[in-house]
Amino acid sequence: MQDNIYDTITQFYENMNKYMPSYEGNPCKECNLCCKKIANLGASELEIDYMEEYVKRNNKDWNKFLKFKDFLTKSPVEKKGETCPFFDEQIGCSAYGGRLLSCRTFACFINEKFTNLVPEYCLIKSNIKIYNDDTFAEVMPFVVDFYQMIEIYKKYKQEQQ
Ligand code: SF4
Ligand code: SF4
Repeated sequence: MQDNIYDTITQFYENMNKYMPSYEGNPCKECNLCCKKIANLGASELEIDYMEEYVKRNNKDWNKFLKFKDFLTKSPVEKKGETCPFFDEQIGCSAYGGRLLSCRTFACFINEKFTNLVPEYCLIKSNIKIYNDDTFAEVMPFVVDFYQMIEIYKKYKQEQQ
């Protein structure tokens, strides 16, 4: 991934933080259920390429990245019960800075149809922002912008081939 694209996405992810609830330390403590079971990871080419670049630049575990890519190709049914390869019992996400959009938003924002996916004991559930098809762009304006970047990147990659 080219430097300018990597830097743009890094900046975008940093700017996203202003829409996120902030907590002291790790609000999930030892839960990590999202990375273990309920994060139904979906990822665009842009997010996967960004994670690849992040892993390279930060000397993260390349084999975990390859497993992660394979993990993303599995259907939710196939993934059931599996843990994301980047999940580490000691530190949580071992590729935190490169994590996907869904990793960043899940349990902070959720479609009203899926609120039952977040367990009652979830420590951050009380701050969750709920949206529906009508309020999606209002509640998560940054995702609309991100989708545009995904499309631009897809075309860019096609032109490179
Ligand atoms: S967001 Fe909630 S359910 Fe997910 S890992 Fe954290 S505490 Fe657990
Ligand atoms: S990339 Fe990190 S945050 Fe996302 S599911 Fe995997 S371990 Fe969890």
